[in-house]
Amino acid sequence: MSDTNEAPSAAQDYPADLMDKLVSLCKRRGFIFQSSEIYGGVGAVYDYGPLGVELKQNVRASWWEEMVHRRDDVEGVDAGILMHPDVWVASGHVEGFTDPLVECRNCHRRFREDLLESDQCPSCGMKEQFTEARQFNLMFKTFMGAVEDSTSVVYLRPETAQGIFVNFRNVLDSSRQKIPFGIAQVGKAFRNEITPGNFTFRTREFEQMEMQFFVEPGTDEEWFETWRDRRVAWVKSLGIREDRLRLHPHGPDELAHYAKDAVDLEYLLPFGWKEFEGIHNRTDFDLTAHQEKSGKKLEYVEAHSGKRFVPYVIETSIGLDRLVLVLLANAYHEEEVEGESRVVLRLHPKLAPIKAAVFPLVKKDGMPEIAREIEEDLRRSSMTVFYDESGSIGRRYRRQDEAGTPFCITVDGQTVEDGTVTVRDRDTLEQVRVPTSELRAHLRERLAGAGS
Ligand code: ATP
Repeated sequence: MSDTNEAPSAAQDYPADLMDKLVSLCKRRGFIFQSSEIYGGVGAVYDYGPLGVELKQNVRASWWEEMVHRRDDVEGVDAGILMHPDVWVASGHVEGFTDPLVECRNCHRRFREDLLESDQCPSCGMKEQFTEARQFNLMFKTFMGAVEDSTSVVYLRPETAQGIFVNFRNVLDSSRQKIPFGIAQVGKAFRNEITPGNFTFRTREFEQMEMQFFVEPGTDEEWFETWRDRRVAWVKSLGIREDRLRLHPHGPDELAHYAKDAVDLEYLLPFGWKEFEGIHNRTDFDLTAHQEKSGKKLEYVEAHSGKRFVPYVIETSIGLDRLVLVLLANAYHEEEVEGESRVVLRLHPKLAPIKAAVFPLVKKDGMPEIAREIEEDLRRSSMTVFYDESGSIGRRYRRQDEAGTPFCITVDGQTVEDGTVTVRDRDTLEQVRVPTSELRAHLRERLAGAGS
């Protein structure tokens, strides 16, 4: 998919320079850092900090819950990143996982030809200086074992899907599943992208959450629609704005070599409508290719009828890092509150890195001690909490708004007298008084009420 398609419309109502603001917020608050920053950074790889790792973890857990735990017809696997090199021959990646690469003769910068808008170099501005395009394979190569020659080449997987296909037989034989059923996997993938960019949108190392659903040929079109609808419902359940969400069905000239049908879920980011999930009807392309290359039978035999067939596959494939970026752009708001401006991340409470912050109003009169007790109690109930006693209460609220924390609990003079605390809601700013003894249950209820 192109990164240079139509300019975002004014209707998307993003604050000015949102991407710069997100990058700076992510660094300042410990969501996302550039990799190896003290050495000047490494191209298109990012590290997740204390808040980012919690956010990513919550998104991953929500996907797994939806795709595996809530279903009796999907099993999980966790395959190795390194695989037999023949996997990538059979899948078509050695031959065809390429992008057209051109180089500017003037500044020697390299670009993906299909992402260029004109014959002008985006780096030095010279026109008509591009070399002829050559096909550049995106797979990272390395060597397995002590000898570094062509017989020991292995690849860092460019997608997690193949780890599922090669385990189709193993899962079928070791579980009670019958067709139709699916296999899900979350894990790292690596692509030596020619033109990475837009922060974590296109990186060279990223995590995918993929599910391959094996069906009888002839039922594939219906299953494709079922999974498309389920996936749309799930992303909406995370609070993704519907006016920034659209489906992009692939035309015949856009379809990948393995696909009979495909649809992208796209989000209107500050740099245009962009794919963050793909749903594909891969037919029997992969299982047939692996059957031929490996010589092992990968067909399914229906128990009651004896009918044999190579299953068709409906794939759902979403980039975890790209989804996190979409969720951050979706959540970012700047607004005026009581004459002061605030930045607030309206993350869905179930995704928020910190669920509640605990503040003593002042650092005396027994308030810090009570606040520490509350913090401990919430931690023991597996809630992510943050204790903060520094700065004015207003500043402490702002810090949590920026981190996306849904609830702030304040211990004040009245707490010492009657055992109640205030609970402030990040979005409505409403404050209610709750007895400390009921706080855990109160928060749990409100987090669940938000649709966790
Ligand atoms: P593109 O055309 O943008 O390169 P693609 O169509 O090749 O992507 P798929 O192979 O279908 O992407 O991968 C599925 C998902 O994996 C994408 O929707 C995206 O969320 C994620 N993804 C793919 N490449 C990258 C990347 N370089 N960085 C981050 N996420 C990626």
